[in-house]
Amino acid sequence: MIRVAVSGSAGRMGQAVTAAIQAAEDMALVCGIDPRPHDLAVPVHGSVAEALATESFDVMVDFTQPDVVLGNISLALAAGVDCVVGTTGLTAEALKGASQAALPSTCLFYAPNFTTGAVLMMEFAKAAAPYFPEAEVIEYHHANKRDAPSGTALRTAHLISASRGFSSAAPGAETELESGKGARGALVEGVPVHAVRSMGFVASQEVVFGSLGQALTIRHDSWDRASYMPGVLLGIRSVGSRSGLIVGLENFMD
Ligand code: NAD
Repeated sequence: MIRVAVSGSAGRMGQAVTAAIQAAEDMALVCGIDPRPHDLAVPVHGSVAEALATESFDVMVDFTQPDVVLGNISLALAAGVDCVVGTTGLTAEALKGASQAALPSTCLFYAPNFTTGAVLMMEFAKAAAPYFPEAEVIEYHHANKRDAPSGTALRTAHLISASRGFSSAAPGAETELESGKGARGALVEGVPVHAVRSMGFVASQEVVFGSLGQALTIRHDSWDRASYMPGVLLGIRSVGSRSGLIVGLENFMD
């Protein structure tokens, strides 16, 4: 039985994750962690420090906020607890820094996106990138999302950039009108990224490739938080046999 604590248990993702863990036969939900009071069938602690001092668990899942996640996982990793992290807004340097706090056998697993479809979208984008001079990312999220661009968009831009090894020649910010600054999006590793925030979306993304006389669009839509749960459970099941920093669900997909 894998003993799991969920940090951010009162949140939108936290509620879905605690329910998925409670329904999994090989996992036991030990506690929730969230400063926001809420009902759960197990104890809820207001901080990771309080949970570590009171409970015993093998894995901590974190779906919180960019400004608290590093503090949370540093404490857990230093206590020998493997971490499965979905909170976005983390840089590669910040993740590396946090992983230094880990005991040697402890694993920090971060996935900017836990849906299998988004992982495949990123793999397809990586494969297409060398064949198209232009690539742009458009991501769509619900209006309560606190960070922009999304972790998936940042990861996609990174994969495209690393895969193609050249910069886009498309017109950039220098062509923006004074009255329309930002129209060409944010340039992430040479890839323009556009973030839409609107009611009606959970998480969607398009990667648009262009070449002479042709365009290729790769699109993924996540309409329900249930779509993340198989990936989160896979992460929880996988970290016990791994150590160090692992980024991306693809590392655990056959
Ligand atoms: P949310 O605002 O609904 O929930 C965040 C929760 O964290 C809140 O309940 C808040 O009280 C709690 N919290 C704040 N400080 C805390 C602390 N110090 N310790 C413990 N809990 C604390 O947000 P959400 O929609 O559930 O999203 C959470 C994060 O997950 C965001 O960064 C979002 O971008 C990310 N996300 C990632 C994926 C993925 O596949 N990786 C998917 C969806 C969302």
